[in-house]
Amino acid sequence: MSVAGSIPAIQMVDVIGQYHRYQDEIDNAILEVVRSGKYINGPYVQRFERAMESYLGVKHAIACASGTDALQIAMMAMDLQPGDEIITTPFTFAATTETIVLLGGVPVYVDIDPQTFNIDVERIEEKITPRTRAILPVHLFGQPANMTRIREIADKHHLLVIEDAAQAVGAKWNGAMVCGIGDMATISFYPSKNLGAFGDAGMITTNDDALAAALRTICNHGSDRAYYHDRLGVNSRLDAIQATILNVKLQYLNEWNATRSAMAALYSNHFAGYGDQIMVPVVAEGATPIWHQYSIILKDGREKAMEHLKAAGVPFNIYYPVPLHLQKAYVAGKLGDFPLTEFAAAHILSLPMHSELTPEQVEYIAGQVITAIGK
Ligand SMILES: *Cc1c(COP(=O)(O)O)cnc(C)c1O
Repeated sequence: MSVAGSIPAIQMVDVIGQYHRYQDEIDNAILEVVRSGKYINGPYVQRFERAMESYLGVKHAIACASGTDALQIAMMAMDLQPGDEIITTPFTFAATTETIVLLGGVPVYVDIDPQTFNIDVERIEEKITPRTRAILPVHLFGQPANMTRIREIADKHHLLVIEDAAQAVGAKWNGAMVCGIGDMATISFYPSKNLGAFGDAGMITTNDDALAAALRTICNHGSDRAYYHDRLGVNSRLDAIQATILNVKLQYLNEWNATRSAMAALYSNHFAGYGDQIMVPVVAEGATPIWHQYSIILKDGREKAMEHLKAAGVPFNIYYPVPLHLQKAYVAGKLGDFPLTEFAAAHILSLPMHSELTPEQVEYIAGQVITAIGK
């Protein structure tokens, strides 16, 4: 759908538009892999792992098949036992909790900071019990959680920290790249993520040699030597075609993240006079986000606003409509348990955000949001 005459149709995420900008480079890289016959792990995957280690400043980057697998494999590497507790946020994509429950662990939730949508670090300590093994913060929407406090609390109580950095590759906390601050970090290269493959892909990072060895083994059926299996593992390896696409795209990630950041600033400028009705995302002191999403809170009238935006050709999404403590699959709570998360779920609206977005589109989208809330 075309809006406002000359402005091209607005996408929530523009994977095709981005591909067209780099088509020759990506096509050639894919063809090279096809002709090499080296389709799983091998030189293209290794090249991507080394490139990510250097980009993130971490000692070990281990590629796997998805961000969800990355979470599961990280918990297997720390030898999570049934009944072990992991402190995490109820306001995130399901995978963060799904993998804990799958391994028999218990997700213990802490409500969010309503300004950043990230785990409220001041309420973590009250949830620590003798069964607590780890803290699992999510850098939601590309903004790092408060890693200084989380690291302090974890060190004091001898807990591991696993960063769910699925939405935050390239984000910084106090000038340091996320992924190297926790004991392990997990990454997703799902096509709509800031660094997206053309299918499923993921990665685990760590600075710890022993964990790295365990992670590598688990990804490959628990085997270091063909047909010898020393521990329980899974089949979660990266396809060379995905690795080579990611190798090409990694070169442009900082540029794309800078575009997102500029578009986020433009959105917030447009909304500046409407603070009573539109709460714009707040960047925490110390955080350099990469704007995986630009999410606003509409205190009133989200339903009506969505109807207006639909009619105006403005895509949007709700991340996330059902908090994880209320999901039927892993129910561990009831309505009222985490009021700030529940409020966010009921009022949040994510607007188009991607590397191909233009200032004209942002102006149009923001104008339509402002018209919608005036109705
Ligand atoms: C996307 C995402 C995942 C899962 O990654 P997949 O690659 O889709 O399996 C996990 N956690 C968060 C926060 C995510 O956004």
